[in-house]
Amino acid sequence: MTTNSQWNGQFSCFDLVAKTDECSRTIVHVGEVAIGGGRFVVMAGPCAVESERQILDTAEAVAAAGAHVLRGGAYKPRSSPYSFQGLGLEGLKLLAKAREQTGLAIVTEVMSEEDVALIAEYADIMQVGTRSMENYSLLEALGQCGRPVLLKRGMTARLDELLRSAQIIAAAGNPEIILCERGIRTFETATRNTLDIAAVPVLKTVSRLPVIVDPSHAAGVRALVPVLARAAAVVGADGLLVEVHPTPEKALSDGVQSLDFDEFEEMMRDLQRYIAIGPFLEDVYPELFVAGGDD
Ligand code: PEP
Ligand code: MN
Repeated sequence: MTTNSQWNGQFSCFDLVAKTDECSRTIVHVGEVAIGGGRFVVMAGPCAVESERQILDTAEAVAAAGAHVLRGGAYKPRSSPYSFQGLGLEGLKLLAKAREQTGLAIVTEVMSEEDVALIAEYADIMQVGTRSMENYSLLEALGQCGRPVLLKRGMTARLDELLRSAQIIAAAGNPEIILCERGIRTFETATRNTLDIAAVPVLKTVSRLPVIVDPSHAAGVRALVPVLARAAAVVGADGLLVEVHPTPEKALSDGVQSLDFDEFEEMMRDLQRYIAIGPFLEDVYPELFVAGGDD
């Protein structure tokens, strides 16, 4: 069996999220949805909640196309302080209404520890954005929030740093964590970020946590989203986080990388045959890493 002694040393201290012979994989249950349980889970919706019509129409469309979870930011971390910052509490209420109407679970971002309790009242999954991955007081507060956490990789974070953040949430009392690869910052400018596709098999080998991929923030352009989604499915990701908007050209944020309803529906249809490949790769993962090696 092939061992990777570098990984043995690099990831050995994150025991609460590590994959070991004793610990089975974490399955995060959100209502009827099980993330990491073998079924490919798609979370889809707009970058930001903009209006009642926008979020309700999107919820209906993504549910009809086979998504399991509705995404939508109410509190938005923007690169510019002059960009749309989100609807805040009103956005949370609209998400709750969309859940009522469609039965979809809700994932939405929490940026500050002060907002944790309020957002936990509305959200089914608490999203930590790339800019917050190392906000340790936020991570600690999420340890006590009573909701699963979707932890996005920092745009300049290594995988051991991502797992360190996961360990902080777990150590604070919350083992229900989903990891998300969303592209990292490299010298390449043709895409918004560089999708680190190897992150999926590495994380699934060293960690017991489910791993999903966000092709939208990785690509930065909608034309690349379906093909990156295929790649995610084929390397064995547990699901996707995808931006979808009724009229991407009018979106208040991230319209360029958002799919419209037809494009999303087509992506979901195309994806099925690639999803069928992913689970076979599970057999390969144990070959990559043996816990408790000689490092
Ligand atoms: C988002 O999901 O809309 C978002 C802001 O993502 P990230 O934190 O990965 O940039
Ligand atoms: Mn976005």
